[in-house]
Amino acid sequence: MGDEVSVRAGQADSTAGPVAEAPGPDLVRREILIPGGHGAAFAARAGQLVEIIDLEGQQVADLVAFAERNRTEWLSTTHTRSALLRLTAVVGDRLDSNWRHPMFEIIRDDVGRNDIITSMCDDRRYRLDYGVEGHRSCRTNFTEALEPWGIAEWQIPDPFNFFQNAPIHPDRTFGNEIPTGKAGDKLVLRTLMDSIVSVSACPQDLNPCNGFHPSPLMIRILEPSQDPS
Ligand SMILES: [Zn+2]
Repeated sequence: MGDEVSVRAGQADSTAGPVAEAPGPDLVRREILIPGGHGAAFAARAGQLVEIIDLEGQQVADLVAFAERNRTEWLSTTHTRSALLRLTAVVGDRLDSNWRHPMFEIIRDDVGRNDIITSMCDDRRYRLDYGVEGHRSCRTNFTEALEPWGIAEWQIPDPFNFFQNAPIHPDRTFGNEIPTGKAGDKLVLRTLMDSIVSVSACPQDLNPCNGFHPSPLMIRILEPSQDPS
């Protein structure tokens, strides 16, 4: 995989800012279909856009990332929260690494609900809390997808849970509700650092997290038609 394809997106990035000429379509470098409950990993170069599309609606996309140049640097929810002074991430936010470097910027978010507080699901979650053995998990998905890059399970950091509906209540507790995402909704990240990215279409089907029905995600890696700088 990894072949560059000649398919072009039908719509240019609307956030590229004023330009002398109308921007052309973004070039789609790669498309990855992630079946519900499974995961994938891919490289994203600085400047490229990563689109995460909720194909059927109500699906959470857990995402982790590592700096390609050094695997001891990774995308960090803790450092991002500290930099933002906020418990969620919205359009315009930069997402930071554990070395306090910006790795991504959110440039589009159709759903507008993201969780950067909770952990990913893992086999212990299903075994201890639901009495289910052998259930797929986001941690399993990341482990399998990142193995070709030499990244082990223990290295996987806490995820950004895009599209997750975890409302924060006035008493500072937070919920776990059915996502509001509709079929075709997307979140777009501008990559600011060469990265190895992994996305999991969360397999959780025992609580409202994915509307009790894990469903597929589409990942598209795009080359912007014009330099946004
Ligand atoms: Zn999960």
